[in-house]
Amino acid sequence: MKKWHMIIDVEKCEDCNNCFLACKDEFVGNEWTGYSAPQPLHDHRWINIHRKERGAFPYVDVAYLPIPCMHCKEAPCIEAGKGAVIRRPDGIVIIDPEKAKGNAELIASCPYNAIFWNEELALPQKCTFCAHLLDKGWEMPRCVHSCPTGALRVEHVEDAKMERIAAEESLEILYGELGSRPNVYYKNLFRFEKCFIAGSVDAIKNDVVDCVEGARVLLSKDGATIAETTTDNYGDFRFDGLTGDGSSYAVVVESDGYEAKTLTVVVSDSVNMGNIRL
Ligand code: SF4
Ligand code: SF4
Repeated sequence: MKKWHMIIDVEKCEDCNNCFLACKDEFVGNEWTGYSAPQPLHDHRWINIHRKERGAFPYVDVAYLPIPCMHCKEAPCIEAGKGAVIRRPDGIVIIDPEKAKGNAELIASCPYNAIFWNEELALPQKCTFCAHLLDKGWEMPRCVHSCPTGALRVEHVEDAKMERIAAEESLEILYGELGSRPNVYYKNLFRFEKCFIAGSVDAIKNDVVDCVEGARVLLSKDGATIAETTTDNYGDFRFDGLTGDGSSYAVVVESDGYEAKTLTVVVSDSVNMGNIRL
């Protein structure tokens, strides 16, 4: 059977919050019987945009990570819900607004912090993937419909096809180590989870400091070269997607007419190597 999946491209998200506002528009003050009770105006973020800044001036970037309910295949909230949370055959996880009344324990059961407490109704609530609209023939939830950059998209496909799409597009899941097997996938997650090394290569030419374009820069770990790049016309280079686990790397810079330079960098966060003078 086909299941609903969401794919989120971290590189395309611009933190405009249109998705968040579309969710508010759809659910605040609206009762969707059998799906959800009204969402409160404040404090609930059924799709929550997290922000992360990496690096140091001038090598800085910011990434945005939208986190809705992951509609997990092995959802901890279903066990904690004691019958109040179900996973529909199409993969959508729904908290029953009647049966879940008073069950505040559900909040802590979600490892993605995707469940919110409605104080007025004494009810745990979360994203429903707009199941009430999909059941009426909509092709996507409101958040996806409102995203202006294409950062959000859906795939309504069988599991085997979704696995193929994930492999072809190098999709990842968030916190895969938790084992909850989300139906939400991410593209370019390295922008949020990984680190980079960046720097600029220059040299003195005719008594003037100038950028070195086209220098070969090699990145090595434990004696083996793991990546290679060349400097751009500003002399800049960058290696991205590195795990910030405190590992030590060697950066070797080579350019015709200059002596090669080797520097050691420890990566526990993104690193600005500054100017490297040949
Ligand atoms: S993300 Fe949280 S609320 Fe959603 S299905 Fe998984 S455990 Fe349940
Ligand atoms: S609408 Fe799209 S671009 Fe805007 S915050 Fe949401 S996911 Fe990001």
